[in-house]
Amino acid sequence: MTGIRLDSVSKVYDGGQLAVNELSLEIEDGEFMVLLGPSGCGKTTVLRMIAGLEDLTSGSVWFDRTEGTGLTPRDRGVAMVFQNGALYPNRTARENIIFPLRMAGEDLVEANAKASGLARILGIDGALDRLPRTLSGGQRQRVAIGRAIVRQPKVFLMDEPLSNLDATMRTELRQEIGSMTRDLKVTTVYVTHDQVEALTLADRIAIMRDGRIEDVGTPSQIYDDPATAFTAGFLGTPRINLMTATVRVASHHRVTLDFGSQSIALPPTDRRSMILRDHAGEQVVVGARSDAFHVTLDGGEANQLSGTIRTLEFHGNQWIAFVTAGIELLNPDLIGVTRSRRVRGGRPTSHSAGSRAHRTAGRVSAL
Ligand code: ATP
Repeated sequence: MTGIRLDSVSKVYDGGQLAVNELSLEIEDGEFMVLLGPSGCGKTTVLRMIAGLEDLTSGSVWFDRTEGTGLTPRDRGVAMVFQNGALYPNRTARENIIFPLRMAGEDLVEANAKASGLARILGIDGALDRLPRTLSGGQRQRVAIGRAIVRQPKVFLMDEPLSNLDATMRTELRQEIGSMTRDLKVTTVYVTHDQVEALTLADRIAIMRDGRIEDVGTPSQIYDDPATAFTAGFLGTPRINLMTATVRVASHHRVTLDFGSQSIALPPTDRRSMILRDHAGEQVVVGARSDAFHVTLDGGEANQLSGTIRTLEFHGNQWIAFVTAGIELLNPDLIGVTRSRRVRGGRPTSHSAGSRAHRTAGRVSAL
């Protein structure tokens, strides 16, 4: 097993495009690291630099204590799977998987045994003797993964391996990638812009933006305690509410977030409350996920924001309400959830409703 260290790596493409900007990141032995970020932020370029498929403009790549910057892809001990893991069309799935072993001179019987073992892990035992064109997209991708991992690479690199699959197949293969990499304990770097993949697979997620790392942490750290408003806004469905507020501190250190026309008091024991006590009078950006707001039709309760429901969306287990609340938001609506039949029953735009900070919500957070 191998840890990877990216030391202030940059990439400027020939046309002058700065794709990666002095990025540093350490990936531990056996860790599953997800690079997550919007299109064009440099994820694939980072992966290709680790693989040795792309030269670095500056900086260095290390595999444990060995500098890998000048090494060929083959000498780095990495295996890579792309969106469309291209297979040899005239070879069966089994022949595709064992191909790298045979090239390395491994005995056919042993190679076949390894292919069978991997096929079991990947759920394609029944498809081993079929040609790629007779396989589904998901099966083909499993074969590509099998072929990449069969030589037990030190590092496994995956670039959006699930993006061309349908939703069901994506979920299945995602789970298999998770259990396979856990079982094999291979250091994995996985590029995606799908936040569900990132949250479910990663030991840690690195959020990228404009060629840099914006935030890095475990999925729950990134989700519950994002370092920046960008990270907060990037992760979570529906999008987090980002609101500007002034911090007011009353007697007994009671903290209130003043949104101008409306305000909310924070529970005194809330961690954010304790941090904000020292920032009286300052403007902050407050992030609160939709489930921190419980939408009701009853006005008059203390500690609530009022607004008009602009749209209600049915999401199966809950309704998502988009509320115009007359407060300064960095996104267009205040978004809350409700299970209430009364809210559900009406025509959304005709109702006026209170959206009240959920009592147990420790999530009204200052970012
Ligand atoms: P996506 O999610 O869309 O795949 P990404 O985050 O993987 O995007 P990269 O493919 O690494 O981003 O691209 C980063 C930037 O570098 C983009 O602005 C892209 O246009 C540019 N870029 C990528 N490859 C090249 C190239 N070969 N020549 C010039 N510019 C490139």
